[in-house]
Amino acid sequence: MAYLCAVCGGRLERVDTTAVCTFCGHESAARYLCAAGHHICEDCQLAEWPQVVERVCEGSRETDPAAIANLIMKHPMSIMHSPQHHIMVAPVVLAAMHNSGQVPLKPGRLTSAIERTKGIPLGACGTRGECGAATSVGALVSILTGANFQKDRERSLALQATAETLLAIAEAGGPRCCKQSVYLALETASRFLKRELDIDLPVEPNCEFAARNDACKKERCKYYVN
Ligand SMILES: [Zn+2]
Ligand SMILES: [Zn+2]
Repeated sequence: MAYLCAVCGGRLERVDTTAVCTFCGHESAARYLCAAGHHICEDCQLAEWPQVVERVCEGSRETDPAAIANLIMKHPMSIMHSPQHHIMVAPVVLAAMHNSGQVPLKPGRLTSAIERTKGIPLGACGTRGECGAATSVGALVSILTGANFQKDRERSLALQATAETLLAIAEAGGPRCCKQSVYLALETASRFLKRELDIDLPVEPNCEFAARNDACKKERCKYYVN
């Protein structure tokens, strides 16, 4: 039976070497590699979901948050549509900002960002009009401005960031697609950061999941590439 690479779909070949883990960036023993050299270390393979997000964000040198999100969503434990997507938006933006030399990633920041939107249940979009990917944009803005419930403009900005993202997701229409929601959240975050906080963080979502996503909205989704 052939094993396929989680990152590129290429065939994995049995090897006995060391390689840099595609997910966390650390070098470790590798027993399988694809032709492109993708490798997942044992720690990344066994990591629980929130740690997967942290490991990829900490190891990435990418400056486009969508590229970091795509890598997280290619982890073997990633579920196509799931609350896993509710916790990744703020962390990938914080990591991309760090990588582009804009805002240093303080210790504990990723964990804190994840904590803020953990626990939003599956299907909250349909049951209560909330999407964790949108709330994660609010969390991101709150973290960057130091907002809390007693603050003035900072509090408004956090609320507005979530609201604008929810609107973008609502206007996209159709049944849920967690990939689409993450990309819409990242694009909204990028526009919002520029407009309100004068932070430049270009994002170019490139959906690599259509072929394996049974519920892909295809032509109804602006990220769909045939
Ligand atoms: Zn590969
Ligand atoms: Zn790893």
